[in-house]
Amino acid sequence: METLGVLLTVPMDPYLEEELDRRYNLFRLWEAPLESRRDFLFTHAGSIRALVGNTNAGADAETIDALPRLEIVSTFSVGLDKIDLDKCLERGIRVTNTPDVLTDDVADLAIGLAIAVMRRIPQVDRFVRDGSWKTKGDYKLTTKLSGKTVGIIGLGRIGMAIAKRAEAFGCPIIYHSRSEKPDTNYKYYSNVLDLAANCQVLIVACSLTTETRHIVNRKIMDALGPKGVLINIGRGLHVDEPELVKSLVEGRLGGAGIDVFEHEPHVPEELFGLDNVVLVPHVGSDTMETCRAMADLVLQNLEAHFSSKPLLTPVL
Ligand code: NAP
Repeated sequence: METLGVLLTVPMDPYLEEELDRRYNLFRLWEAPLESRRDFLFTHAGSIRALVGNTNAGADAETIDALPRLEIVSTFSVGLDKIDLDKCLERGIRVTNTPDVLTDDVADLAIGLAIAVMRRIPQVDRFVRDGSWKTKGDYKLTTKLSGKTVGIIGLGRIGMAIAKRAEAFGCPIIYHSRSEKPDTNYKYYSNVLDLAANCQVLIVACSLTTETRHIVNRKIMDALGPKGVLINIGRGLHVDEPELVKSLVEGRLGGAGIDVFEHEPHVPEELFGLDNVVLVPHVGSDTMETCRAMADLVLQNLEAHFSSKPLLTPVL
């Protein structure tokens, strides 16, 4: 019987890689040198019927075109921005992602970043470690999160989980999404500029599409203002990064907590010296518990597809 070929685009969760290796004929794309990836795909195209990608490397048009037998793309992420969905639709390729299981972790991190920025947690930790407490006395006063108005861009699964957490801190919640949600009492803003002008903490939690690219631009940052804090746990391209750097350096924006960047793992070095910024390396869903649950969803979706059962989390 034919062994099913699965292409893994980048190294990710070791458990997922081991399980894929055990169940399928696994092809590791990154093992081929960059300049010979096309040849690698051409050589194995006859057996590759599934592709597993993530937020770094998914399924672009070129990769899909190189794989004529591809039937399913199962991404180890909820975001679909690294998959050419039109191409998949055109070719009848199924697509699955990992929604819900990561929602709590990403929402936890969004609130964690807001507290870390406003209470300067990394900075005060360094203050203790480098002996400054003993030599300089008390640390300067910081800013309170509880009670501040939190604006959320994208009241989807993660946005809603952030809203629930922020509510527990006594924060009034306002939001912008494509559509108003009839089942919440949170105030809806049909445009991001008004949302930013009416909150102190602005959290980006929408999906990345052509419409949401740079949804946070200079105007939005200026509306948030020198006392406002921007938290991005969506995607780097949601925020105009050069403008973010300028706004922070010039003091037009009060602070920022950033998990995602335009050119990961490259982060603008101008941010490194700012003490109103907290930077983390795209770790929104990176807990052991959640990565195991995401890996299991990828595996279960592939298993369902190849045994002609309904997919667990279908996108297409
Ligand atoms: P979701 O439930 O599909 O929510 C997406 C939200 O984006 C929805 O509220 C949607 O609005 C909104 N949206 C889409 N297009 C929009 C537009 N043009 N203008 C305004 N809002 C728009 O997805 P989710 O599970 O919450 O995940 C959201 C995103 O979080 C993912 O796509 C991913 O990029 C990011 N994420 C990041 C990490 C991390 O590690 N940092 C981890 C997981 C996910 P409607 O409600 O009106 O449809």
